[in-house]
Amino acid sequence: MANKHKKKRKQKLRQQQRKAHQEKQNQSKTIRHNTAVNQEKHRIDWQPLEPNEDGIVADRRIMPRDERDRREGLLEKSQTTFNELLTDADWQAMANKTPFELGKVIHVSRGLIGAEVNGRKLICDTRGILTAEGTGYTNITAVGDRILVEQTADDRGLMHQVLPRRSGLARMDSFQTYLKQIIAANVDQILIVSAWRDPQIWFQMIDEYLIGASRNNLKVAICINKVDLAESMEVVEATLRPYANLGYEVIFASAEQGMGIDTVRQRLQGKTTVLAGLSGVGKSSLLNAVQPGLQLRTGVVSELKSREGRHTTTQAMMVPLAMGGEVIDTPGIKDMGVSGMHPDELILFYPDLEACMVNCRFSDCTHAHEPGCAVREGVENGRLAPWRLKNYVNLFERLDEEFFETNLRKKKVRR
Ligand code: GDP
Ligand code: ZN
Repeated sequence: MANKHKKKRKQKLRQQQRKAHQEKQNQSKTIRHNTAVNQEKHRIDWQPLEPNEDGIVADRRIMPRDERDRREGLLEKSQTTFNELLTDADWQAMANKTPFELGKVIHVSRGLIGAEVNGRKLICDTRGILTAEGTGYTNITAVGDRILVEQTADDRGLMHQVLPRRSGLARMDSFQTYLKQIIAANVDQILIVSAWRDPQIWFQMIDEYLIGASRNNLKVAICINKVDLAESMEVVEATLRPYANLGYEVIFASAEQGMGIDTVRQRLQGKTTVLAGLSGVGKSSLLNAVQPGLQLRTGVVSELKSREGRHTTTQAMMVPLAMGGEVIDTPGIKDMGVSGMHPDELILFYPDLEACMVNCRFSDCTHAHEPGCAVREGVENGRLAPWRLKNYVNLFERLDEEFFETNLRKKKVRR
């Protein structure tokens, strides 16, 4: 009797569950339908008008001056995908088809662009109709960009267009989180510089730079500087082995003692390299060892400063190397691309951790206290570096919080 009662209750419960599920499904169907309708409307808004009997397209006549230009420009720029095959010759050919000269952006500061144009350094303004709108980025141009320039005075110019990019280093914009900020364009690789000590090596920062490089599809190498301050090279090498095991090139260097400089030089030659690292780790010292006399933080920056009579926040600047290639210094830029990622995506960048995780006894293991946890076991037997696990947990928590916050913000905007 009691059993029968139980069975009935269970049946009822299941019915309720099914109904709730059905409702949820219908709801999401409506949402999907509404989105589709909106998209359709949007598309119609943007369809070009048909020409009338006289062959005149109406929107051309009612468009304000420059508007068609602007839209065409936007369309061109909205191709945020990169063309990996682009070379200097291609950019030159593009410029040759226009009345303008080809320029390379070597510094950007509050709307003023420092560009190298056929051996001259020009400080350029941006043509008024060029905006970042529709590009997916919050900024129009970045160091490394190839641009079309019209010289307007001895050392002044006007930027007419940003040419398609080969690659780029971008990160989530901190205010408009649905957009990206481009930090550097047409980059070949990132060299992460960290000091072994003074400042103390910071693994989480290295992890973040590695993830940023990977998300931006850029090659990367790690340079550990100031190894002269280490107790022994064995300790340094053993500490960095987890990165080497993951397949990253790790260069041990001492700018002071001239160690590892040849390797750094080889790595930089002929490439466009973003230098990533906290201030004080020895980036300038390393570059000076690679090329004596090279100055990282002068040149165009100070020129721009004195000219405009105000201090500008330096974002990034490019320094050419005599042996070919160039480096891009990014002072003050700590976040190179972890932000904006879904927290669940993070594990993709921790294959060492994932290799352990799949062997945990429970699929929902939190790796804190459960029996049969392969992650804790991996840490104990040295297969997994404890700091890799710690970095993962820290980053996951940060991303989780960020994800929650940006979703809240998005909802607020919608209302
Ligand atoms: P940056 O801010 O990354 O460009 O760092 P700097 O090149 O300005 O170097 C910061 C400080 O670290 C300076 O006082 C350098 O003399 C010192 N330094 C740089 N490389 C080494 C090194 O290999 N060993 C030691 N002991 N000190 C170094
Ligand atoms: Zn576990």
